[in-house]
Amino acid sequence: MQPLSSLLLVALAASHAAVAIAAPNCLSDVIVARGLERRGLERRSSWSYEGASGVEHWGQFSTTCDVGEHQSPVDFETDELAIQSKPDLKWSQVVNPFTFINNGHTVQMQLNQSALFSTQADNRQYAVQQLHFHSPSEHRVHSKYFDLEAHFVHASADGKLNVIGVLFEVSEKPNPWIDLFIDSLPANVNVSTYLSGLDMSIIINHLKDTDYYSYSGSLTTPPCTEGILWMVARKALPISVKQLLKFREVMPFNSRPAQANADLGEHDDHHGSPSASAADSKPGYAPAAGATQKWDDKSLYSSAGFKAGFAMLFSVAFMAALI
Ligand SMILES: [Zn+2]
Repeated sequence: MQPLSSLLLVALAASHAAVAIAAPNCLSDVIVARGLERRGLERRSSWSYEGASGVEHWGQFSTTCDVGEHQSPVDFETDELAIQSKPDLKWSQVVNPFTFINNGHTVQMQLNQSALFSTQADNRQYAVQQLHFHSPSEHRVHSKYFDLEAHFVHASADGKLNVIGVLFEVSEKPNPWIDLFIDSLPANVNVSTYLSGLDMSIIINHLKDTDYYSYSGSLTTPPCTEGILWMVARKALPISVKQLLKFREVMPFNSRPAQANADLGEHDDHHGSPSASAADSKPGYAPAAGATQKWDDKSLYSSAGFKAGFAMLFSVAFMAALI
């Protein structure tokens, strides 16, 4: 970070010097105005999870986010959505070398390894493209949020997308699959780390063991494209507090609130009323709050495992402070 900020400072100083030499007043005003314009454009082209470019304003990036009737994520309020037929996973036990990218919205593994990972569902063959994470979860079950959700994004030859969602819930035990890569999370935005491979057997066994909620939905980020076949594993996997906190160190709060979805018999009652939106009732969602209140831990973490883990971490931190 430091060399980059130093470079920026040097660049800023150089541009100010150039402006001062050329024309100290009017030209610098124009440059400032153009700078504001540029920043304005940036604001309009870059979505986020809070403030003026937050989830309530994603319609400015794509109208589908506002008016779509098959949006994701959803709250699975009924078990009727559960299907017994499982996706036919043809996944290799081990992933070949790949890059792990921090794009500012999430951390994402580029797994474009169609020869190794394909899924048969919906009478189509889907090849895996990438895997990324959200915290807290985007999908809910009977209004309950989970602590982390992984999205395995697949594409078919005719351009249809299938996303397999895996939910994680805080437990006293670390997750052995997450342990394989947790120390390689890309910490800085637009910087990648490189992994020489990853054993997927734990996740594969889980996906073969569970059944799924399945529905037709959308991307959960702009442009909120619809026609996505969602399959969310019903059985959650454990994650330790320590592992969860490592994800949260490197990615922002990145969970879109539950949406109305006609496929689930719900109609467009969440749109057009930002003040009464689902976002307001979402635990941990604090769009107007400062960065330090971005995670509402009290409401978000309710499991006994988290409380025990947090108490332990707090005690250790407290003792470390005393020493
Ligand atoms: Zn996602």
